Amino acid sequence: MQQPEISLIVPLYNEEKVFHLLVERLDALIASSPYRLEIVMINDGSRDKTPELMREKALQSPQYTSVFLSRNYGHQIAVSAGMAHAKGTEAIMIIDGDLQDPPELLGDFYNKIKEGYEVVFAIRKKRKENFIKRSMYWLFYRILNRLSEIDIPLDSGDFSMISRRVCDILVAMPERSRFLRGMRTWVGFKQIGVEYEREKRLAGDSKYTLKALFKLAYDGIFNFSYVPLKMITSLGLYTILISLIYITYVVIKKLLGYEVPSGFTTLIMAITLFSGVQLISLGVIGEYLARIYLQVKNRPLFLVDNIIQNGEVINGQRIL
Ligand code: UDP
Ligand code: MG
Repeated sequence: MQQPEISLIVPLYNEEKVFHLLVERLDALIASSPYRLEIVMINDGSRDKTPELMREKALQSPQYTSVFLSRNYGHQIAVSAGMAHAKGTEAIMIIDGDLQDPPELLGDFYNKIKEGYEVVFAIRKKRKENFIKRSMYWLFYRILNRLSEIDIPLDSGDFSMISRRVCDILVAMPERSRFLRGMRTWVGFKQIGVEYEREKRLAGDSKYTLKALFKLAYDGIFNFSYVPLKMITSLGLYTILISLIYITYVVIKKLLGYEVPSGFTTLIMAITLFSGVQLISLGVIGEYLARIYLQVKNRPLFLVDNIIQNGEVINGQRIL
C-alpha cells in the first residue's frame, strides 16, 4: 500500500457504544477525501468490546491500524502512542473517539498545513459540558497562562493537526508526564487556531474522571512552570516579615511596661499557620521531586501488546 499522507489518531478507552458511529463517520471521510488517509486507533486498555471491534475493523480495512496497549495508560499517553505509530507523510490529526471533535474538519486543517503552518489547533467556541466542568476549565486555562512560561492558547484541547516534523519532535521528547497541548505550544514554529463548535459526546460516558482532570491540570502547571517553587521563597519572606512586625510589637509593649504573658491564642495561631505553610512548601517540592523521580526511572512510556497494520497482526512490539 502507498504511504498515507495524513494520519488520524483516535485514542479509545471503553468506547464500544460510540464505535460504530465513529467508524461510519471515518469511512465516509476516507471515501470523500482527496487525500490518502490512515486511521490509527489506540486501545488504551479497554475492558469492554472496544478491542474486538478495533481488531475486526483493522483486519478488514487496510486504512485502519489498531494499536493495543498493554493496559490503561491515560489519554495523553494513548495519543503519544498514536503519534509513535502514525505513518502520515504530511500531517497527523488528533481527535477524540466520542466524536466531540468533528473529523470532517480534516480538509480545513490540512489547508492550513499546506499554507505553511506546523500546528493547527482547534479552539472551542462554546462548551457543551456542564457548568461546573466549564468553569473549572475556564479557571484552569487562566491560571496556567499566568504561571507558565509559554502561552498555551486558551480553550484549545488536544484536537489538532500537526506537521510530520512536529510529530517527530513530540515523539522524540522524552518527557514522562505528558501534557501534550503544552508540549505542542512549546515546540513553536508557525501555529494557528481554528474555531469550531464542540459537539456533545455522541454515546457512552466521559472517561475523564475528576481525578484524571486534576492530574492533567497538575501536569500542565508543574511541567510548564517553576512559579510554585519560587512562591515558596516569597511565602517564607512574607512569613518572616509578619513575624518581625509581631516581635517588634511585643518587645515595644514589654519595654513600655505592659503585662505580656497573655497570648495563648496568638501562639496557637502562629504554630498552626506556619506548619501549614511548611507542609504546603514541602508538598510543592515533593511535586517536582516526584516528576524528577519519574523521569529518572526512565521506564518506557507505554508497552504495546500488538498491532494490526495492513490487515496483519504484528505481535509483541515494544516501543519506547
Ligand atoms: N481516553 C483514553 N484513555 C483514558 C481516558 C480517555 O484513551 O484513560 C480517550 C477516550 O476514549 C476518548 C478521549 O480519550 O476518545 C477523550 O476522553 P473523554 O471524551 O472521555 O474526555 P472528555 O471529552 O469528557 O474530556
Ligand atoms: Mg469527550
